[in-house]
Amino acid sequence: MADDATPPQPPAERPVRRPVPSAGDGRASAASSTSGTDEKRPPWYAPVGGFGVTFATQFRKVLTEEYPEKPRPTAPRYHGRHQLNRHPDGLEKCVGCELCAWACPADAILVEGANNDDTPISEGGQGRFSPGERYGRVYQINYLRCIFCGLCIEACPTRALTMTNDYELADDNRADLIFTKDQLLAPVQQGMLPAPHPMVTGMEERDYYQGKVTAASDEQRTWVAEHADEVTGLVGTEPAKPTDSAASRRRS
Ligand code: SF4
Repeated sequence: MADDATPPQPPAERPVRRPVPSAGDGRASAASSTSGTDEKRPPWYAPVGGFGVTFATQFRKVLTEEYPEKPRPTAPRYHGRHQLNRHPDGLEKCVGCELCAWACPADAILVEGANNDDTPISEGGQGRFSPGERYGRVYQINYLRCIFCGLCIEACPTRALTMTNDYELADDNRADLIFTKDQLLAPVQQGMLPAPHPMVTGMEERDYYQGKVTAASDEQRTWVAEHADEVTGLVGTEPAKPTDSAASRRRS
């Protein structure tokens, strides 16, 4: 059978309707009024009118921040530089589990754990730095990578790792922005003794987390006084640096 069907025709082009400016059209009226106003203004108006902004600004409240002389306080929960916390007797809360390093999406944290050693120092013992079985022997945070998301502090099972409000983390070289354990460790406060030293006699690890240890005991103080020379040089015994890290490192 012959194909007598009509071949398909392209659709007819529809006329485009363009809006016609009218007296009530805002755009048309604005354009016409602006051009009309400019035409009415004298030629000296534009340069003089520009200074109007300058004069008006002189009487506004000054917003200049006097930084770094007067650093502006942050919001209380601002995510700043990290801190490795201590128990009330000075032992470290970090148990070297590496959960913070695994949680970090930017791969900014390096942790190496080690066993606490209760062998007497005189017999080659390496000392006790935390109440549990292990402690964080190496701890580094690379602030060139850190995005301050806070996932590390959420992952920490012992609340060893928290974030401070310190935001002064700029520096002029890359190496100084890799913070080590001695920079991150919280300063030794009143009632504390710097690790290593034994746990409070009669207390277990869980007692530390239940808040039963409130300060270093006399027995611990005696031990530290007797072994002051021996513990110097053991891994992790460096005194903590001041917490205002970037500013203090620039001053030193
Ligand atoms: S800071 Fe917390 S999560 Fe990280 S290794 Fe120490 S205990 Fe584990």
